Amino acid sequence: MKRNNSQQLFDEAKLLFPGGVNSPVRAFKSVSGPPLFIKSGNGAHFIDEDDNTYLDFCCSWGPLILGHNNDKIREAIVKTVANGTSFGTPTKLGNEIGRLIVENHRYLEKIRFVSSGTEAVMSAIRLARGYSGKNKIVKFEGCYHGHVDSLLVKAGSGLATFGESTSSGIPKSFVEETLVLGLNDLAGFEKLLEEQHNDIAAVIIEPIPANNGLLLQDQNYLVWLRTLCDKYGVLLIFDEVISGFRVGFEGASGYYSIQPDIITFGKIVGGGMPVGAYGGSKEIMSHVAPDGPVYQAGTLSANPVAMAAGIAVLKQLLEEDFYENQHIKTKKFTDSIQRYADEKEYPMHMVQIGSIFWFAFAQERIFTADQIDPQGMDKFKVMHHELLHRGIYLGPSGYEVGFISAAHTDEDLADAAITICNVLDLVFG
Ligand SMILES: *Cc1c(COP(=O)(O)O)cnc(C)c1O
Repeated sequence: MKRNNSQQLFDEAKLLFPGGVNSPVRAFKSVSGPPLFIKSGNGAHFIDEDDNTYLDFCCSWGPLILGHNNDKIREAIVKTVANGTSFGTPTKLGNEIGRLIVENHRYLEKIRFVSSGTEAVMSAIRLARGYSGKNKIVKFEGCYHGHVDSLLVKAGSGLATFGESTSSGIPKSFVEETLVLGLNDLAGFEKLLEEQHNDIAAVIIEPIPANNGLLLQDQNYLVWLRTLCDKYGVLLIFDEVISGFRVGFEGASGYYSIQPDIITFGKIVGGGMPVGAYGGSKEIMSHVAPDGPVYQAGTLSANPVAMAAGIAVLKQLLEEDFYENQHIKTKKFTDSIQRYADEKEYPMHMVQIGSIFWFAFAQERIFTADQIDPQGMDKFKVMHHELLHRGIYLGPSGYEVGFISAAHTDEDLADAAITICNVLDLVFG
């Protein structure tokens, strides 16, 4: 498959944007070749500027749970945009999507719309601080929460809970407000809360950690976090920017039956438009301006075009058996690859929940970021390259998960599984 036009466009883009991109992973730094420049998508496939067609397992990094160019979403956008794009006022469509979410999510009473996942998380931690009157936030190694200053922090060497920033440009004083722990560490968590709960406003976690591989946690562990947060008067924030509306309409909160204090959303909720949201009980949300003292605003927040797209996606997700079908289809796909890898004794396993999957280049189940073998990423690089040549697009990093949309047919997936198994022979051959 030729990538001449993508190469040429990328050369031009490098003169215009840092690294030629507007979001870093897109640059294909950890895989080979220039990034694909995509010109159109339909259903489970998209087409690049060299006219190659790919089966897409990245789905715009998660939002496209119904695939590309979904009829109902497109029609809703077109119909709405004919009346204007944004008024900076409340709209009826805003009420409609608000109702749709709140009435179908047992843990939400009020929400606030913003324009990205990062903005949702940033606002949620401000709310947690404003509500509790405390400053520190606990996060977990291997969870990503957008590019919020104080959350671009990883565990430093030495004392586990003192963080180190993962980006330059972040004041040390911000980093000091963040405490970092490993996932799946009950004892460490209890000790931290016991010692520092008077300073800790909130604990934030991706209940389904899906930004550093797919590090599925045990339900018991998540329940334990909830129990200890209650015991010590610390808020629990579920960052459901990926898992929200993905593993069920009620996301991971519903999946595990755990009520967080604040939930953040992004990706799917906007139906492919830039939307984020955060929500919780009436009581907590009453602290947000103008009801309360926690300031947060947005020029294009809840603009009607984005809300129309969100309504169109959410209504389709509420159709009977939507999530069950997605789960069955995805599991069939990952099971078939797993069976093949087992027969050949390849040291890998497929991790899957709902319509999210990940190739783990390890035999054992992995719970924490530090259990990921960096050498597996070399294998992923070969795999990515070979799959691209066979018309299958995975997100360009072995730490990224894959997504299956409603538009991926059983036949698409059966064919892709055969191709992937053939490529595994090359990777492990
Ligand atoms: C993608 C993501 C974010 C950031 O969302 P953006 O819309 O990219 O700002 C935050 N948290 C999680 C869990 C995410 O997956």
